[in-house]
Amino acid sequence: MTGPANIAAALKGANIGRVRFNEPMSRHASLKLGGRVDALVLPEHEAQLEEAVRRLREHRIPFLPVGNLTNILVRDGGYRGALISLRGLDRAVCAPANDGRFWIDAQAGAPLGRIVALAAESELTGLEFCAGIPGSVGGAVWMNAGAFGAEIKDVLVFADLIDDGGERKTLRREEIAFSYRKSNLPANVIICGARFALSKGRSEQIRDRVAEIMKWRQEKHPLQYPSAGSVFKNLPGMPAGRLLEELGLKGRRLGDVQISKKHANFMINKGQGTASDMVKLIRLVQEMVQREKGLFLETEIVVIGEEW
Ligand SMILES: Cc1cc2nc3c(=O)[nH]c(=O)nc-3n(C[C@H](O)[C@H](O)[C@H](O)COP(=O)(O)OP(=O)(O)OC[C@H]3O[C@@H](n4cnc5c(N)ncnc54)[C@H](O)[C@@H]3O)c2cc1C
Repeated sequence: MTGPANIAAALKGANIGRVRFNEPMSRHASLKLGGRVDALVLPEHEAQLEEAVRRLREHRIPFLPVGNLTNILVRDGGYRGALISLRGLDRAVCAPANDGRFWIDAQAGAPLGRIVALAAESELTGLEFCAGIPGSVGGAVWMNAGAFGAEIKDVLVFADLIDDGGERKTLRREEIAFSYRKSNLPANVIICGARFALSKGRSEQIRDRVAEIMKWRQEKHPLQYPSAGSVFKNLPGMPAGRLLEELGLKGRRLGDVQISKKHANFMINKGQGTASDMVKLIRLVQEMVQREKGLFLETEIVVIGEEW
């Protein structure tokens, strides 16, 4: 079942937090573009999340969990079904483990920036690589976010989730297959929270490393424009950005979507960009890379929703 009116009827009276119908994703996505979702469900605690999933499943309404929407492109035709935003579930706490290490337990909606700060305040090392990644814990686990040679799987102990059968489960890191910017968790599995294991470090060193990474990002990435970070996955031994730069693609523009002149693997929205401009630009790049280099460039960003 899809469509805002049908979904509104199906969700009537349910204690699932706020719901926004026919909501433009340009309001929420870091790209500041994208079509409308039939329903954006915003639970504020786990009981509301569980109830939302139960209702949506019961009425056979397609759904997908989202975090900070910093790695998603919603096509202009919008998403038929419900997006469940985990942003309201954002607690994170730090506790000693019994093996000399320390844990950070975070709900899925906690921003990575917050857990990086919590680790630094607690003099814990291991999460510095996440500095400046604007996503949430849930998105980072689902995509195995990474930077500077480290990935979220390196610090993950377990993830709490609602599986694709609607059951609550805890999966240890070893039970999830992770690879480059990918896990084997199905699309509609909802990560509710995660535990990370960190070690005691030196406060000054941790803060310096975080500051160094933030400075590097400021210098290398076009952070003054809306984007979704790297659009394409790197190829073995060849960063996608360098490949696109070599092909002269820096600055290439379709409408208001442009391949950044600062970093060729970023596509930026110069104001009135549309998802269809971005999808066309992605295809143009993929076709050119295939033609010129015989290589397939896979997108890192997740593209959802329908064409116009
Ligand atoms: C300026 C900038 C810099 C970036 N730099 C990096 C970088 O260095 N490294 C990197 O890896 N990424 C980077 N990113 C991309 C992005 O921030 C990360 O991939 C992040 O982990 C995505 O998290 P999110 O909460 O925004 O996920 P979303 O964009 O909301 O969702 C991404 C995917 O994860 C799924 N998902 C989200 N939450 C959950 C959940 N709770 N349970 C199950 N599935 C879920 C969604 O269904 C979707 O398929 C960058 C983005 C920007 C804009």
